[in-house]
Amino acid sequence: MHATLESIHQRVLDRNPGESEFHQAVREVLESIGPAVDKHPEYAQARIVERICEPERQIIFRVPWEDDDGDIHINRGFRVEFNSALGPFKGGLRFHPTVLLGTVKFLGFEQIFKNALTGLPIGGAKGGSDFDPRGRSDREVMRFCQSFMTELHRHLGEYTDVPAGDMGVGARELGFLFGQYKRITNRYESGVLTGKALSFGGAQVRREATGYGCTYFAQRALELRGDSLEGKDVVVSGSGNVAVYAVEKVHQLGGRVVAVSDSGGVVHDPKGIDLEVLKDLKEVRRERISGYTDRIGHAEFSSTRSIWDVPCQVALPSATQNELDADGARALAKGGCLLVAEGANMPTTPDAVRVLREAGVVFAPGKAANAGGVAASALEMQQNASRDSWSFEYSEDRLREIMTDVHDRCHDTAAEYGCPGDYVAGANIAGYARVAEAMLALGLI
Ligand code: GLU
Repeated sequence: MHATLESIHQRVLDRNPGESEFHQAVREVLESIGPAVDKHPEYAQARIVERICEPERQIIFRVPWEDDDGDIHINRGFRVEFNSALGPFKGGLRFHPTVLLGTVKFLGFEQIFKNALTGLPIGGAKGGSDFDPRGRSDREVMRFCQSFMTELHRHLGEYTDVPAGDMGVGARELGFLFGQYKRITNRYESGVLTGKALSFGGAQVRREATGYGCTYFAQRALELRGDSLEGKDVVVSGSGNVAVYAVEKVHQLGGRVVAVSDSGGVVHDPKGIDLEVLKDLKEVRRERISGYTDRIGHAEFSSTRSIWDVPCQVALPSATQNELDADGARALAKGGCLLVAEGANMPTTPDAVRVLREAGVVFAPGKAANAGGVAASALEMQQNASRDSWSFEYSEDRLREIMTDVHDRCHDTAAEYGCPGDYVAGANIAGYARVAEAMLALGLI
């Protein structure tokens, strides 16, 4: 690591003890922006990197709520407003029992660079709670969301901070959150949340955008190498919103998704995952993926197999952070994988990234490959601000253009800074340069 960045890195570790995922995300960025620090001494002089590593504001709050039996629960809510140099704070909310402040900080930090890469006017943030929506009734989820928003609303606004969904937060949760925001503020401020359902100010293609966008990114990377998704076997870990729509787009582009997963295990369907069955299981019934084999007799389910052992040419890790380790990466390389594009945030461990690199597998980090979700959120904000709503076709065209730009920005930046083909360096340098330039222009903020 560049000497200046090494000392900044050490200070981040010292000031944020125990936040291993945040440390990992910071390290990955600082390891690759050395060439930009050399090229722009004015950014270093203004101590832009230190400022980027320190959130502008961190909010932690109590979320009390009552379950259907009348028992009271206390969860913890978070919002980390990381950087607003480019626009209002923007980033999702994650409801998952493992969520800690360090989780939200890692996600918020990644979001700064991701949002910058879209070329759209959005800053970086993330939030969430250790609440587990799984197994909870709709009414329990509603009571939790109302309590969460009762505190969070004072920090939000369409020009201030605009949350969206992430793991455990979909259209249902966003509806309850928006309802409570509207009730407390007495304002129908559509642009304060994105990922809304179409019935109350949502935008076409937002639901599909992360999975579609990741697939477009993979397609563009293959295209520049004289190849395409046509006829490729693809593995997509996860079976949430990102995974489902990655499967849909891969199939539309002529590839075949042969495996998906959830925390209970892996489904292998050599004939190609049946999208209708997958959507019914995960979106309508909210059930486990193991039920797939009851409907598709030739498919296999295993609760012990690693999804990365399924041979494929393209892998889209779309479940959660650090799900693809060095062993998984070796298995992918052995199975003939050419390209890994991250649909989730930081699903590949640093060791796995090294293994892939050494094996010559093209690797696209989530902050570039999964930027389609937040890009579509920015389009939703644009439609809300102009009281307009675009067609599915037009929205999809915009998403495809943006993802092509994100890809090319990473690709061209990597070449310009002497590391051709390195999407990690390209994404981090391009994101950093855009944020740094804005921060410099805004004075000492
Ligand atoms: N949670 C998504 C992400 O990781 C979307 C954020 C947003 O739309 O604001 O990028």
